[in-house]
Amino acid sequence: MKTRKGLLLLLFSATSALLSARSAYYSSKAYSLSIQYTDEICPGDAVIFNMTVTEGSESIMSLDGTAFIKLIRDATGKSPGDSPLFTVNHSPLVMYGAIPLSTYLEEGTFSLKVTYTVTNGIRMEFSLPVTVTSKDFVEEVLYLNETNTAIKTDNSPQRAAQIDKLNAILDTTDTSNIYYDGPFSYPVTSTRRTSFFGDRRTYKYNTGKKETSLHYGIDFGVPEGTPVTACGAGKVVLAEWRNSTGWSIVIAHMPGLYSLYYHLSKMEVSEGDYVEKGEEIALSGSTGLATGPHLHWEVRLYMNAVNPDQFVETTLF
Ligand SMILES: [Zn+2]
Repeated sequence: MKTRKGLLLLLFSATSALLSARSAYYSSKAYSLSIQYTDEICPGDAVIFNMTVTEGSESIMSLDGTAFIKLIRDATGKSPGDSPLFTVNHSPLVMYGAIPLSTYLEEGTFSLKVTYTVTNGIRMEFSLPVTVTSKDFVEEVLYLNETNTAIKTDNSPQRAAQIDKLNAILDTTDTSNIYYDGPFSYPVTSTRRTSFFGDRRTYKYNTGKKETSLHYGIDFGVPEGTPVTACGAGKVVLAEWRNSTGWSIVIAHMPGLYSLYYHLSKMEVSEGDYVEKGEEIALSGSTGLATGPHLHWEVRLYMNAVNPDQFVETTLF
C-alpha cells in the first residue's frame, strides 16, 4: 500500500496538467487543494482519500452529500466501489472518503474520480490514478466438532435476529461519528496470528457436509483472559452475546467505519460508552464458535470487511 501526497492548484476556467477540471464558465475565484490518497493498493484494502482546501475555501461548498469519490477500472469503465466525502474539519475545510475493495478484485489500473460542488452549485470533477496489485490469500480448512457445527448451522430466529441487528449497525453511516484519531493500534500485544484477513475458509462439519466462506478479520492466538484494547477512539455501538461470535463488541470510529472484537470472556464496556485508543475494553476468550482461545479482530467499512493492517499504518486525514 502506498499513499501519495500532492498539492493541486485548481483554477476555475483553467485545466491543470495533472487533472481535468470541468469548470466551464465560473471564473471569479481560485482555490488550492492538498490531496492525499492511496494510489497503490491490494485487494481487500481501502482506497483512502482526503483533501484539504488550503486556499479559497469559500469557493467550495462543504455540504455533505454533494461530494463523492468513485473508483473506475480503466479497461472496462466498471466501478468496484464509491464513497461519499465527509467534512471532517471546517477550518481549514477537510473532506475524507474511503472505498473498500473486495478481496476478489482483480489487479489492474483504475481512475479515482473525485466529484464535488463549488459555489453556485457548479459540479467539479477530476481523476487520479490508482493501481491495484495482486495478493495471494491463504486457503484453510477448519474441522468443526458437534458443538461448533451446531453453532455454524444454527438457523434459529434468535441467531437470525442477531445477524440482522449487527448488519443494521454496520450498514449505518452516521456523519456525526467522527472519532478516529490517527492510525489504529493492535488490540492485543501478541503478534501470534492463527488466521489471517481474507483467508479462503472451508468449514468441514461433523456431519460430513462443508461450507466455504471468507475470514473477515485477523485471529490472534492469545490465552483466555488476555486484555483487549480499543484499536482507536470511538463509540461502543454493540456489546452483547451473539450465538456465533460469543461475547462481542463493536466500536464506531468514523461514518461507516467500525472495529469488531469477538469470542471475548469478559466485557468491560457497555453500549453507548466512548473509548480512547488503547483503552482496555474486554478480556479475550473462546466464546461462540471457536476452536481455541483467540481474539478475532475485524474492521468493516460500509459493511465490507477490509484489511485491518492497513488501518494500523494509515492516518485517514
Ligand atoms: Zn476469526
